[in-house]
Amino acid sequence: MRYAILSDIHSNLEALEAILLDCRRQRVDMYVCLGDIVGYGADPAECVRLTRKFVKRCIAGNHDYAVAGKIDASYFTKDGQAAVFWTQQNVSFETIEFLSRLPVTDRGDDFVMAHGSLHDAGRFQYLTDVVDAAGSFSCMEENVCFVGHTHVPRIFVQAGKNVYALPGQEAELDKRYKYIVNVGSVGQPRDGIPMAAYGIYDAETEWIGVHRVRYDIAGAQRKIRAAGLPEDLARRLELGR
Ligand code: ZN
Repeated sequence: MRYAILSDIHSNLEALEAILLDCRRQRVDMYVCLGDIVGYGADPAECVRLTRKFVKRCIAGNHDYAVAGKIDASYFTKDGQAAVFWTQQNVSFETIEFLSRLPVTDRGDDFVMAHGSLHDAGRFQYLTDVVDAAGSFSCMEENVCFVGHTHVPRIFVQAGKNVYALPGQEAELDKRYKYIVNVGSVGQPRDGIPMAAYGIYDAETEWIGVHRVRYDIAGAQRKIRAAGLPEDLARRLELGR
């Protein structure tokens, strides 16, 4: 089984379409999504529709729950709040219902999924360093956990008592170890590389890696500006920040 792991699509249809095309070339068998389908970009309804069409297992991100009114968005950035409000006005009730029904974790045969950290998943905390990673490793029965939320790809490893981050963005899995893989963001990368990101997990060869894909950034920016969303949400796409 070859999985594509998508996270933080953030209503960026141009990025999502480019990734779905790349997934076909990569001969992906199954798509999963780690949440934040909506927020920031100008195509929430179409991104939700495509996600529902392709993705087999999907969990919620904080933006999905904020749009659905399940969590308070007052701790979001000003731009984030503006995007939540705009999104609520531009999706159907049925889409909102779909977002509100998403679970916060999903445990399957080969891996477990959480949006932020696996530990206390419903609070959507950022998993950024080895201390955060250790907290999530402690509640992992599976060998592999996929996360998003930071929009920065990173692989953490637990080998015995040691927890560390790998320098690169791919790994051949060692059965004795556990892994937490942040697959980065489809629709708003923040690691300084403006290309869309997603993860591939090949459960046969036991290989995991983050792929980067070029997409029509200018097209996504035009729509954000035409929608009247905050200018910085358009500008940051070309910076990957
Ligand atoms: Zn996000």
